[in-house]
Amino acid sequence: MYPKEIIEKLIKAQKAVVLTGAGISAESGISTFRGTGGQWDKVDPMKLATPEAFAKDPKYVWEWYEARRRQLREAKPNMGHDVIAGMEEFFPKFTLITQNVDRLHQKAGSRNPIELHGSIWMARCAGIPSCGEWEDRHELVNLPPQCPHCGALVRPGVVWFGEGLPGEAWAEAEKAALECDVFFVIGTSALVHPAASLPETAIQKGKLVIEINPEETPLSGLVTLSVRSHAGPALELLREKLLANDSA
Ligand SMILES: [Zn+2]
Repeated sequence: MYPKEIIEKLIKAQKAVVLTGAGISAESGISTFRGTGGQWDKVDPMKLATPEAFAKDPKYVWEWYEARRRQLREAKPNMGHDVIAGMEEFFPKFTLITQNVDRLHQKAGSRNPIELHGSIWMARCAGIPSCGEWEDRHELVNLPPQCPHCGALVRPGVVWFGEGLPGEAWAEAEKAALECDVFFVIGTSALVHPAASLPETAIQKGKLVIEINPEETPLSGLVTLSVRSHAGPALELLREKLLANDSA
């Protein structure tokens, strides 16, 4: 699965970047949008996770997010999350960029991942104009919740369909992609721009790019190595190879 010359390059690599997407959470039983259960299975997320849906019926949108949050409270990180958390110790400089909003990386021990799409555990003031308040809202009493500072409604702290990515997170992610020695693309189809442009940047700059995905993606033919596997087993094998060769 991993040629010897790739392992040798990884051992010498100073700066590593990992980009993850829904595929890695799927191995924890999390479907990004479907399978929340009951009445919500029939709901089209493209119609709910939008500023328009929130403006029309904020309570309904929050009820859907609460159903997802209930599911996520029980969710546990899997082997893939664990190996990625361990990579922080292995590479001298390490940046994790995730499109997932579930915070399973943090549960596995990853410190400070760049959350390109925000977090389902955050809420922010939706006032017009917004007072800018962001906060951790793990427990909600009344739906829809109100901003403690200005009294406007607060909205889930995630990036919705049709919205731009948070500027600071994006700038940091782009910088990491430009400066890295190795770029891993794990469990993401690399179809959604702008996130997909991160591995494209690394490819254009001639970096070592390793894709791990059970399905073929538009990147598969362009990367240095495309591993056709679920993230957990492929990353566990990579960890074994790196540790065995590092001490050899
Ligand atoms: Zn406010």
